[in-house]
Amino acid sequence: MFSRPPPAAAAAAKSKPPESKLALRLQKARQNGGGGCGAAAVEAKKVACICHRPLTKIICRVCAHILEGRVMRKCHAHPNHLYLLDVNACPSCKVNQVWLEEHPFAGDEKPTKKNRRIDDNDAMDTE
Ligand SMILES: [Zn+2]
Ligand SMILES: [Zn+2]
Repeated sequence: MFSRPPPAAAAAAKSKPPESKLALRLQKARQNGGGGCGAAAVEAKKVACICHRPLTKIICRVCAHILEGRVMRKCHAHPNHLYLLDVNACPSCKVNQVWLEEHPFAGDEKPTKKNRRIDDNDAMDTE
């Protein structure tokens, strides 16, 4: 009584579609035509996004001014993104960022500010 398999399952097992040919064709296509795609993938990987690097204590080596933020660096993945706390000059003595030193927050020190994007971000989102 119980041992008879349901008819639907038996039929499915018998009429299994022959997929091996398709799989072979797919494999061939990948081997032959994958060159361009592979190169693009490598290119994309090389451009690392630095937009979300953490805030630091910036110390000016000229006037010893200390502020929270990041020394401005162009993100090659998002060259048009601007961040509120990225600085390219000392706000106090106005020397350029060559004189600014980033010091990571250590131990239980935490930034009191929050960085955020300030460029127009409705044209392009995160990408
Ligand atoms: Zn980025
Ligand atoms: Zn300064």
